Amino acid sequence: MPSAPLLSIVIPMHNEVDNLDELFARLRTVLDRITPYWEMLCVNDGSSDATLDYLLQAHALEARIRVIDLSRNFGKEIALTAGLDHARGDAVIPIDADLQHPPEIIPEMVARWREGYDIVAAAHRRREGEGWFRRISAKAFYRLVGHISSIELPDDVGDYRLLSRPVVDALRRLPERTRFMKGLFAWVGFRQSVVYFDREARHRGTSRWNYWKLWNLALDGLFAFSSVPLKIWSYLGMTIAGTSLVYAVYLVFRTLLVGVDVPGYASLVVGVLFLGGIQLISLGVLGEYLARVYDEVKGRPLYIVRSRHGLDEAMTAQSTDSTAAS
Ligand code: UDP
Ligand code: MG
Repeated sequence: MPSAPLLSIVIPMHNEVDNLDELFARLRTVLDRITPYWEMLCVNDGSSDATLDYLLQAHALEARIRVIDLSRNFGKEIALTAGLDHARGDAVIPIDADLQHPPEIIPEMVARWREGYDIVAAAHRRREGEGWFRRISAKAFYRLVGHISSIELPDDVGDYRLLSRPVVDALRRLPERTRFMKGLFAWVGFRQSVVYFDREARHRGTSRWNYWKLWNLALDGLFAFSSVPLKIWSYLGMTIAGTSLVYAVYLVFRTLLVGVDVPGYASLVVGVLFLGGIQLISLGVLGEYLARVYDEVKGRPLYIVRSRHGLDEAMTAQSTDSTAAS
């Protein structure tokens, strides 16, 4: 059998059973039109509902639907990493299970890939069912990271994108534990292209993200791709020290000329509190980096697989040729 290019769809899933009927139906319609050589890699990220049962049934009926069952909930970014590690496709497309990423644009992405692009990102035109606060904070965040780090993050592009085999291999060589996927995608480079889609509100269920998680994701993005927060403190320190020196000289001369002037409680307290605050913040920033260093140094595996279905271990150890095993 000649090995035609294999197309892998990677789907991280956490309690998505209500969406799967429609997701699989729509994906299959789209994929069958492109090529018979496709696989759907479903990563069950510690779901507590019937997602796994559903996936196993689907796998029994259709061998090209493959399942990786993680030992617990590791979070979307890590589930995605597990999927990328196991995908054997010549092109790999991570997609959300909640139908916010319409499968219908996959043919366009594949067409761009065949034209020679290595990364085809899907950018959304509008976001329904999302509050203004989230929209604006997302925008501000990407601006900020774009400014102070060496990579550029477009704010309308998420994890939904086509990755060619060289890109997937490059991503897999990045060992870091902090999987800020968007940043990693941008970091690897390669020839990129963009297709547009209308992002809809989540099909069923609620988003697993809340502001606290988003805030932490933002911190990951910031600290993983920039050391500016670590460096500003020396400049701030120098500025404050310089100003204090000038003020000290002024005070000495004033004391010599006018004599001692005892009141000054307010300025004293303000100075002490302000400096205390600055020191605590800088300690906190040091702590953020230290915690990340500690995480990396521990060298734990990113995820633990409980079981694989339709994927044998030898094949997943490295990316091999693209013969569809169905
Ligand atoms: N997801 C996951 N693990 C998690 C949270 C989410 O695998 O801990 C999956 C989820 O099933 C979905 C995708 O990641 O397929 C996006 O999740 P969600 O819709 O909650 O995020 P949002 O669209 O709000 O970014
Ligand atoms: Mg979603």
